Amino acid sequence: MPKVKVNPELCGSCGLCVGSRPEVFEFDEEGHAKAVAECEGELGFECPFGAIDVE
Ligand code: SF4
Repeated sequence: MPKVKVNPELCGSCGLCVGSRPEVFEFDEEGHAKAVAECEGELGFECPFGAIDVE
């Protein structure tokens, strides 16, 4: 299963990932997204800030 990683320095806190895949992404205390699970299948969206890496 693909592993996803968010670079918090690039995250613009737009909420797209958290809204699209709430089972994979959550906001941290500072309002940046973080991945909390592996991703089943394609992400289905592209982070507009280029902050998400899929391995
Ligand atoms: S889609 Fe990208 S910029 Fe938006 S909250 Fe998620 S990681 Fe941050």
